[in-house]
Amino acid sequence: MNYVALLKEKNLKVTPQRLTIVEELYVNGHMNIDQLYHSLKSKFPSVSLATIYKNINAMTDIFFLSEVKIPHQKSVYELTKEEHSHVVCTQCQTIMDIDLDISQVLSDAKQLSSYSLDESAIIFNGICPKCK
Ligand SMILES: [Zn+2]
Ligand SMILES: [Zn+2]
Repeated sequence: MNYVALLKEKNLKVTPQRLTIVEELYVNGHMNIDQLYHSLKSKFPSVSLATIYKNINAMTDIFFLSEVKIPHQKSVYELTKEEHSHVVCTQCQTIMDIDLDISQVLSDAKQLSSYSLDESAIIFNGICPKCK
């Protein structure tokens, strides 16, 4: 994947730190700020947590990255892709994407609330096969 072109297309300056964040997320799927800090620190010893936050915010602002807010846990970040749901293991905190058809849930929610809804975040907590 050509991240450099993607970042440029979004008018975002391409810095080595930014690229590393993107690469890490591409390889690992979902990472929280501590995990990102840890892996960047090994490459850029002088990097600060504030810098990483700044980079992540810049990239979430343009929807290049998405924040996944997990109850009782730190948010994780991922490269933005099509809307999907998540399953989280309460034992080992592993988080996985699941493609769930939520169109029926969404239309029920609209009907029951009379709201116009455009965003949803569905997260299931449970125990993964490895921890079972
Ligand atoms: Zn687990
Ligand atoms: Zn995801």
